[in-house]
Amino acid sequence: MIKTTDLHKSFDKLEVLKGIDLDIHLGEVVVLVGVSGSGKSTLLRCLNFLEVAETGTITIDGRPIDRKKDDLSKVRAEVGMVFQHFNLFPHKSVIENIMEAPLIVKNENKAKAKQLALDLLEKVGLSDKADVYPSKLSGGQKQRVAIARALAMEPKALLFDEPTSALDPELVGEVLQVMKELADEGMTMVVVTHEMKFAKEVADRIIMLDEGRIIEDADPDTFFNHSTNERTKQFLEMVN
Ligand code: ADP
Ligand code: MG
Repeated sequence: MIKTTDLHKSFDKLEVLKGIDLDIHLGEVVVLVGVSGSGKSTLLRCLNFLEVAETGTITIDGRPIDRKKDDLSKVRAEVGMVFQHFNLFPHKSVIENIMEAPLIVKNENKAKAKQLALDLLEKVGLSDKADVYPSKLSGGQKQRVAIARALAMEPKALLFDEPTSALDPELVGEVLQVMKELADEGMTMVVVTHEMKFAKEVADRIIMLDEGRIIEDADPDTFFNHSTNERTKQFLEMVN
């Protein structure tokens, strides 16, 4: 579903991604871990072209993306993103937030966009919040709206960048639950998270980034219980 070869990304002289080869299959849940500054957010942002990698190729669903010729807003519609800080439009109601991209980017008709938004609100357990403004929601509710908003574009894959890191501990579970349900339904997902319990239970694969390189790519049992990589072992001691 998403494939990269030899992806390099620098900010001025700082090389943040140093040749990333990634292969995310249809329906797979990949958890991306690594210490702060290792390049996790940059990698996710490159995968949906919020950042443009200088070299290397990205193929989405079998189609190589040409940074210059392709309509990148279309690519972003195919690969959705959920951010740590929700990024909802504060002056729009919950349902308007969810309808916005289908109306603007996809030119969807209003009745259809509304029905889809209502269905998605039901899916994330917020049917009663359609006409509420984001400021009236808890962090966990905001993040569930953000997930519904991403789903409204009917993406082929979803990227999550520390979706629960800004939440009070008691609100983390409701967001992880929604993500787990999506995973169970077969959504292709790349998730940056420090929630190791989620990683153990839901991930098909764990990828560890270190200083802009993939240093481990393993199934959860191997990653958590049998890694021989010193950096991985240090990381696990830190998060456990
Ligand atoms: P992570 O998400 O793993 O914490 P990031 O991808 O956010 O790591 O950052 C990796 C490195 O790139 C860090 O050193 C960070 O300071 C730098 N960086 C990230 N975004 C930018 C940017 N827009 N401009 C300059 N440096 C950046
Ligand atoms: Mg980050």
